[in-house]
Amino acid sequence: MGHLAPEIDEDPPVLNRLPILLLLTAVVTGCAHRGPVVSNVQSPAALLRAAAANTAVVDDDDAVMAGVNLLGPAPQGVLVKAHAGLRAGAAPKPAIISMPSPNKNDRPGDGKIDTLIMHHTSSAASAERIGGFFSKKESKVSAHFTVGKDGHIVQSVDEAQSAWHAGVSSFDGRANVNGFSIGIEMCNVGDGADPYTDDQYKALGQLVAYILTNYNIKWARVTGHKDVALPKGRKDDPSLNFSYARFKQEVLAVDPHAGM
Ligand SMILES: [Zn+2]
Repeated sequence: MGHLAPEIDEDPPVLNRLPILLLLTAVVTGCAHRGPVVSNVQSPAALLRAAAANTAVVDDDDAVMAGVNLLGPAPQGVLVKAHAGLRAGAAPKPAIISMPSPNKNDRPGDGKIDTLIMHHTSSAASAERIGGFFSKKESKVSAHFTVGKDGHIVQSVDEAQSAWHAGVSSFDGRANVNGFSIGIEMCNVGDGADPYTDDQYKALGQLVAYILTNYNIKWARVTGHKDVALPKGRKDDPSLNFSYARFKQEVLAVDPHAGM
């Protein structure tokens, strides 16, 4: 991170604002923050620019998370290469970055998985940063997979276990959707304007072809968080500009039998 310390300064840094300042000053040794305050920083690149400009980053949780992941201990993801699926003839599992989360349960009952729930993250953070957030017990949330705008896929919870993504929920007359579903988070601000990228749709195609063919999940049981969350209206993800048509096209390009 040496390139983040354009000015070495032995003056006591300002430490009375947020923990991010502690992190910045602990890592970027001796770097005092005198520039304008930057708030609502939403990406690692923006944080790097802010740090390079010798400014302080304060005022939103996302910036704090960026600081933790960039300047604190890096989230320890382990690359797991693509490999064959669980069932003969099913689509292979794409490469994933494994970042295990403690926020999970054993699946109830027979443990059968028959539903896929799509989410957006409501954040501009990368999949790795979201995975880092899920890996912390205090976050009390998780999803099985998070798909970044760059096409990176982070896996936080093994499919055999329930992830904590849907909360109070019901689908097709059954409560506790987490118990019988797989949850995918798509990195997106969720304002209806932030685009889902080509890389993201392609990664989703690989991942969801794997999920649908290996767990024999039908298209009728691929739905959004907003469609299962209780009370109705509690959630709005995925945002309206997520194209289920494009998504389905990418999945079927990988395996034309997926979800059928
Ligand atoms: Zn959601």
